[in-house]
Amino acid sequence: MNQHKRKDLKAVNVTGNRLLSDGVHYISVEKPFAFKAGQVIAVAMDPNDEPRLYSIASGTHKKHLGILFDVKPEGELTPPLSLVKAGDTLYISEPFGKFLCQDTPATWIATGTGIAPFISLVESKQANNVQLLHGSRTLDKFFFQDYLEEQLGSHYLRFCTTESNEKTIEGRLTGYLQNTQDLPTNNKYYLCGSSQMVIDVREILIARGVAFDNIIAEIYF
Ligand SMILES: Cc1cc2nc3c(=O)[nH]c(=O)nc-3n(C[C@H](O)[C@H](O)[C@H](O)COP(=O)(O)OP(=O)(O)OC[C@H]3O[C@@H](n4cnc5c(N)ncnc54)[C@H](O)[C@@H]3O)c2cc1C
Repeated sequence: MNQHKRKDLKAVNVTGNRLLSDGVHYISVEKPFAFKAGQVIAVAMDPNDEPRLYSIASGTHKKHLGILFDVKPEGELTPPLSLVKAGDTLYISEPFGKFLCQDTPATWIATGTGIAPFISLVESKQANNVQLLHGSRTLDKFFFQDYLEEQLGSHYLRFCTTESNEKTIEGRLTGYLQNTQDLPTNNKYYLCGSSQMVIDVREILIARGVAFDNIIAEIYF
C-alpha cells in the first residue's frame, strides 16, 4: 500500500487518545524525531502490519506527535487504532513528504480530517499571510476550530453543508470558490482531503485563472 518497509517502523508509546467527535480521534505519541510541518508518517499497530499514512497534526516544537483520523468501520487500522490508550505501543516511520506549504501568500483548503497538516503549520507558527477554508458536512467536524479561530481570526472560514451557526458559511466551499469576487489568483493553493474535493477544487481554481502549478494537493486515499 505504501513504500514503507515494515522493518523501518519504530516503536513509540501512546500518550493520549481523545475522541473529538463521533468516530474522530486525536492520538498523541511520543516524538522520536524532528519533522517539518506538513509531513506525514506511516503508522501500524504491529510491525508486521501494512502501515497507513497520516499527516502529523501537531506543531514542530511540541513534545508529542499528534494524528487526527476518522474511523473507517470496514478499515483494517482505524477501528483498532481508535481503541489505543496511553501506555500502548504504536509503530511509526520517520516523517516524510513535500506538502510543506511554505510559500505565501497562500490559501489553504481542507475537508474533514484534511485539516491535520494545517493544524501543524498553525501550531508551528507558519501561518503568516494565509487564508484557511475548511469544509464539513456537520458542525461537530471543525476540529480545533477554537484554536484556529484564535490564531487566524477572519482568515479562517468554515463551510458547513447540512447545519449552520453564526460562525459558519452555509454550503460547500466549492460554491464559495466559484462565486467569490475576492479570489487571489496569484496565491499558492494547498489542498488537503479527499480525492473528490481535490478534483472539484482544482477544476474551479483553474477555471478562475489560478495556474495549475500553483495548486498543490495532499490526497487522503
Ligand atoms: C498522504 C496521506 C495522508 C493521510 N493522512 C490522513 C490523516 O491525517 N487522517 C486520516 O484520517 N486519514 C489520512 N489518510 C488516509 C489513511 O492513510 C487511511 O487510508 C485511512 O485512515 C483508512 O485506514 P484503514 O486501515 O482504517 O482503512 P483500509 O483498511 O485501508 O480501508 C480503506 C477503505 O476501504 C474500505 N474497506 C476496506 N475493507 C472493506 C471491505 N471489506 N468492505 C467494504 N469496505 C472496505 C474502508 O471502509 C475504508 O474506507 C492519509 C492518506 C494519505 C495517502
